[in-house]
Amino acid sequence: MAGIDRVRADRYVIPLETALSDSTHGTMEAFEIVTARVTDADGAEGTGYTFTCGVNGGAIADILGREMAPRVQGREADAIEKIWHDLWWAFHYGGRGGPTVLALSALDMALWDLKARRAGLPLWRLLGGYDPRVATYAGGIDLHLSAADLIDQTHANRENGHRAIKMKVGRPRLSEDVDKIAAMRDAFGPDMPLMVDANMAYTVDGAIRAARAFAPFDLTWFEEPIPPDDLAGHARVVAEGGLPVAAGENLRSLWEFTSLIASGGVTFPEPDVTNCGGVTPFLKIAHLAEAFHLPLTSHGAHEFTVHLLAAIPNASYLEAHGFGLDAYIETPLAIEDGRATAPDRPGHGIVFDWDRLEAIRA
Ligand SMILES: [Mg+2]
Repeated sequence: MAGIDRVRADRYVIPLETALSDSTHGTMEAFEIVTARVTDADGAEGTGYTFTCGVNGGAIADILGREMAPRVQGREADAIEKIWHDLWWAFHYGGRGGPTVLALSALDMALWDLKARRAGLPLWRLLGGYDPRVATYAGGIDLHLSAADLIDQTHANRENGHRAIKMKVGRPRLSEDVDKIAAMRDAFGPDMPLMVDANMAYTVDGAIRAARAFAPFDLTWFEEPIPPDDLAGHARVVAEGGLPVAAGENLRSLWEFTSLIASGGVTFPEPDVTNCGGVTPFLKIAHLAEAFHLPLTSHGAHEFTVHLLAAIPNASYLEAHGFGLDAYIETPLAIEDGRATAPDRPGHGIVFDWDRLEAIRA
């Protein structure tokens, strides 16, 4: 096995065609992406990447390119578990989350891509190989939309192959959210899988009140009702609210997921491969959920994550929201009749358009 020759970090700012909004981040007009490119001594390459809502990208690229790169140079590229643990502990004092774990995520994804490409296998087969066809949903970032605009957006999503829809909640008055959910049910009927996402907008008591108000609409889940650190609060929302709860996009390690799952405070664990530490911990979180008989969903980076949900037996829905990346890759993930299919190309199979990316380099 060839050693790691080079790790390259690059940062880009992707403009969004239309502004997005949620209850925590307000209005968003651009996302940052930091890419990790690992080259081995034979010249083979693997790529990974991570996103931010527009801040921290400089720190992530610096940690990856200036501090992590020299620590992995010359290491065996396929000894990923060892590299992950060595980096986790080398960066632990100032790490344990934040930019460090986002940098580690991108690097770990690149190493897995490299390993799969060298093996000549699509990533989903290398990682387990369960079913390449994965159910998806359209994750709207649409708190600002009126009911009429939300319905228009949903028609467009359904024309693009989606069958399940998630909408934002957390408006200043609960009745505004309830009215919009009711309008969606009126427009699309009782059978369309529908999720809501509060992006941590509520107190525990507020989330329980909201869950009870949403209960008549048969939602698939209520996502991130409260901030991620309140484990006892999550358990109360699940027990007293009466809705399944999805959470995890703001957890940054296997051990944070372990605590939340063990607390009984989550129904659909929702890791993001670009911020939980990469493929290595994502799969452990997936298997931990399986051991607790919980279905796993995902956050972000759907073109990569389709491989991870295709590798495991307990996948529920893959979240699809592109963060604008589709315009910079030659291989956007197709959604057909509510499903995506993990590519059969070696590795993750995502082909970046580096020339186009050059124009948005930060
Ligand atoms: Mg969310």
